[in-house]
Amino acid sequence: MTFRRPHPTVALAGLLSLGMLLAGCAAAPDGLDFPPDPSGRTIDDRVDPDADCPSEAVAPAEDRPVIALEFSLAENLRIVTGTETVTFTPDLPTDELVFRLIPNSPVSAPFGNELTVTDVTGKEVDDFGYESADAYPTTPGGLLVVRLTEEVEAGNSVEVSLDFELELGDGTFDRYGTADGLSWWASGFPLLSWEPGVGWSRDPLVTVLGETSTSQAADTTISVEAPEDLEVLMTGAQDRPEPAGDGRRVWTSSETAARDVSVAVGRFDTEGAAAGDTEITVGVLPDAATDAAELAEDAASLIEDFEEFFGPFPYDTLTIPVLPNFGGGIEYPSSILLASPSRVILVHEIAHMWFYGMIGNSQFRDPWLDEAFASYAEGLVGEPARDGTDLEIPGDIGDSMSDFPDADEYFDVVYGKGGAVLTAARDAAGADEFDRALRCYINAQAWQIAVPDDVAAALSELPAAVKILDEAGAFG
Ligand SMILES: [Zn+2]
Repeated sequence: MTFRRPHPTVALAGLLSLGMLLAGCAAAPDGLDFPPDPSGRTIDDRVDPDADCPSEAVAPAEDRPVIALEFSLAENLRIVTGTETVTFTPDLPTDELVFRLIPNSPVSAPFGNELTVTDVTGKEVDDFGYESADAYPTTPGGLLVVRLTEEVEAGNSVEVSLDFELELGDGTFDRYGTADGLSWWASGFPLLSWEPGVGWSRDPLVTVLGETSTSQAADTTISVEAPEDLEVLMTGAQDRPEPAGDGRRVWTSSETAARDVSVAVGRFDTEGAAAGDTEITVGVLPDAATDAAELAEDAASLIEDFEEFFGPFPYDTLTIPVLPNFGGGIEYPSSILLASPSRVILVHEIAHMWFYGMIGNSQFRDPWLDEAFASYAEGLVGEPARDGTDLEIPGDIGDSMSDFPDADEYFDVVYGKGGAVLTAARDAAGADEFDRALRCYINAQAWQIAVPDDVAAALSELPAAVKILDEAGAFG
């Protein structure tokens, strides 16, 4: 996520940074070798092919969750009814399943968003109930706990099906909302909250604007039934919509490794572009100031730029529904809710496809692992790097979401200082060395849930970089 309150200079800043991006493309930074075919999905061959540094991103786990989501959007565009079927294979024994109900957070619920689970079925299901986890008091709770009739052993599977209803509130800078002829919901279903090797994540839903989830990359299929005059842009490779009767259509998609799902439904006009094998689709609303084709080309160009540093784009598709300007953007697997014309926000959210989408983390416990890296990445592709003044900001970049008293301090320390610290670490270690070590981290932690020590391990032969990160509180 990134959020900047809209102000009159945003459009100008966007134009200026476009110029900087083009200038940045003209020369390879710091002698980094660009492969002859920038769309070729080959990993930089300088990466050492050993266990700590696989030559390409490790594949998603065979025993990852399998999740099927069915959403139906009501004619009033404010109620989503849904069913979620989960096949879960824990790596530790457990007698329950815990799901995070993010619409019920104190950030989202005051605007009229609410998620209620109406039924849970499955032959191993005993009963289900809510835990607060500091949810907004008018909601049923922040966590849904499904108790099983008996413990599931590690490596065995359990299947449950949940029925739910999601109410969408008024549009604001959030992952849920409605506006004229438009609805969007992301994290709009009970989110399975298991951390392999650790267990269930029961972290509180904080009042600070930002993500707090821990979720595995799941083999995910999605269907969305909606009024036939509306278009759907969501996570996953989408099929053509099929008629569903009564003036409605059903849209389907699939994503082989998605930690979460975003859906936007509205009168989108869409345009596409390609970055190698990655298909980009941008949707804009009627009367939008954004040119969808230009934005799609821009996103394609950024993907190709980032692939030089981070390796192949993690997904086959990227959809970008452009929402009204609420001042920010929110990343989801293979989809971005873009609610700002600011180019740096597009850059930041695309970087999250690697740092969050592919390399997961506890967004509550270690928010820097996605936000500091996405902020750092801005400076690699022509946006202003987070600089030395940010380094002087007091506070530990490795703090958890509950350590920050407000969003301003969270953004300053994790995004501003965090991005600057990574830039300084790269400068200290040498750009080539740092980029190579970072690629080891990316490849080794792909589709898993990384921890700060994984960063330290990847940088272990670059003590100057580790020292800078350590002094900024990255490692606790
Ligand atoms: Zn972010």
